[in-house]
Amino acid sequence: MLTTRLPLQVEPYRLAAQDERLEGLVALEAFERLALDVGAQQGDCQARLDFGIDAQGRRVIEGWLEAEVLLPCRRCLEAMPVRVESHFLLGVVSDDAVAAALPSTHEPVLVENEQLNLLSVLEDELILSLPQVIYHDEAQCNVSRDQLTSGADSEGSENPAANPFEVLRTLKGKS
Ligand SMILES: [Zn+2]
Repeated sequence: MLTTRLPLQVEPYRLAAQDERLEGLVALEAFERLALDVGAQQGDCQARLDFGIDAQGRRVIEGWLEAEVLLPCRRCLEAMPVRVESHFLLGVVSDDAVAAALPSTHEPVLVENEQLNLLSVLEDELILSLPQVIYHDEAQCNVSRDQLTSGADSEGSENPAANPFEVLRTLKGKS
């Protein structure tokens, strides 16, 4: 079980020259954009990063991350835990021209003053690997399929998601 905390800022050129591996945890709380996108998180993101220089002389980072994030169910909007995993290959670049020369297998990461914001890199990768649409299994969801299709509980319902079906039901009643 990993307990080491990853540094949030690293020197990628030095790490690549030394073929370093960094492995450890980052608190999900630290990912502010993630929180804005999908809501507050708890727990840790586990990550491993292998720095190196490839046969073409490029500084590369081969990375992996895994985390359990809380995402809102699109049907009942309640947060549900979802396991996310990502493998990625980064090419360290110092400017846009170098980035343009990277093969499509590598995602460019811009490094200025020898410093790389690891937190930001991991957050980008995590956000990219989030599933677009998440639903509970029907048995676990707070909004059942019956409620959605029959509108059976929509009398005085406070759930705005039921409204379109209320309208449908009214239309049907008129025909
Ligand atoms: Zn649900």
